[in-house]
Amino acid sequence: MHQVAQLITKDAEPRIVVLSALSGTTNALVSIGDAMASGDRHQAKQQIDKLEAHYQSFIPELVKTDAARNKTKQIVGEHFEFLNIILKISFSEALSKDILAQGELLSTKLFSVYLEEKGIDHSLLPALEFMSIDVHDEPQLSAIRSKLQTLLKQQGDKKLFITQGYICRNVRGEVDNLKRGGSDYTASLVAAAVNASVCEIWTDIDGMHNNDPRVVKKTLAIEQLSFEEAAELAYFGAKILHPTCIWPAQQQKVPVKLLNTMQPEAAGTTITQDAGSVGVKAVAAKDGIIAINIKSSRMLLAYGFLRKIFEVFEKYRTPIDMITTSEVAVSVTIDSGTHLKAILKELEPFGSIEVEDDHTIISVVGNEIAKTPDVLRRLFEALTPVPVRMVSYGGSKHNVSILVPSSFKTQTLQLLNKGLFGLE
Ligand code: ASP
Ligand code: MG
Repeated sequence: MHQVAQLITKDAEPRIVVLSALSGTTNALVSIGDAMASGDRHQAKQQIDKLEAHYQSFIPELVKTDAARNKTKQIVGEHFEFLNIILKISFSEALSKDILAQGELLSTKLFSVYLEEKGIDHSLLPALEFMSIDVHDEPQLSAIRSKLQTLLKQQGDKKLFITQGYICRNVRGEVDNLKRGGSDYTASLVAAAVNASVCEIWTDIDGMHNNDPRVVKKTLAIEQLSFEEAAELAYFGAKILHPTCIWPAQQQKVPVKLLNTMQPEAAGTTITQDAGSVGVKAVAAKDGIIAINIKSSRMLLAYGFLRKIFEVFEKYRTPIDMITTSEVAVSVTIDSGTHLKAILKELEPFGSIEVEDDHTIISVVGNEIAKTPDVLRRLFEALTPVPVRMVSYGGSKHNVSILVPSSFKTQTLQLLNKGLFGLE
């Protein structure tokens, strides 16, 4: 927070700062909610107390004056009192969202007291007053824009605003959220809503990397990406960015920068309309993929077959990631088994069905991969030892996706690091 205060006051540009919760808090709140949901109030109480102690020890490091310490103590006290009250009433889905919201409410209020102590003029914008989602849990940019702009007009000549990431209200007016990691999404929505000149996402890594640093030894930060490339990478596993977070910024053509809080001078990754260069930029992996194969002789020369299959997935709101077809069979992948049983039952009449779980999609992303035939040759050469289950290419000019058993993920990423980027 001390570092963040420096970053946001480096010049007099007007800014809206979107804060996530303190590290570890949302995870702790998730397990508090889980404990309550399973009726284990004792466990929940223990976790609440542990988290509160963590916040109490955070205060003296954050602020120095007695006045600021008293204020922050009061804030922490109020939020933990709220959690303790929830503990006593009967648990519901809506309450679990209230629990999850405490992290961002705490971080922004505490940060605001710190800024006040430092004499930095600012105002706190409550995200619950402008960030909203529709019946499908999707944020509506136009609604957010008009509410946010109204709120901003009430702030006089303030230049610096702090708000909560992640949290929002749903159509029933209840507290809800934009799913885990959703603070980036909030930032992108806010940037689009006010037509910001840039949306900076400050994390703890210097931008998007060409490969997963947890799996391969050597990776390089990517300087420039197009929105399309970044969206594919985020969706297919690059952990640094929330997968859906890109579209609002992209829609309003607001450049997005991924920067490192701990190393503010590092160039990071800039994401704009323009990809900068042609060729392969990165590989990313997405685990937990289920492949479904539907084989039917009736598909031969038939039309309407794919539509019927897609309708089943549509009915269960289950997105398909990859698809490959032959004349008599089609393979699709999904990343959620929530409705798998029901989906399979409805697919049954269409032919013989095979299901394989524990697969990983490895996505090779780069601008106009097609124009660099060498990439395809090197890709498949590198993959020689890997039992590739599916290949998808041509849907986007920027992506080749392959499906491999998850047990081959590490090896595949390492082979591609060498084969495509010359990195060991
Ligand atoms: N605090 C939330 C989470 O951990 C949102 C975020 O960090 O972006 O998921
Ligand atoms: Mg976070």
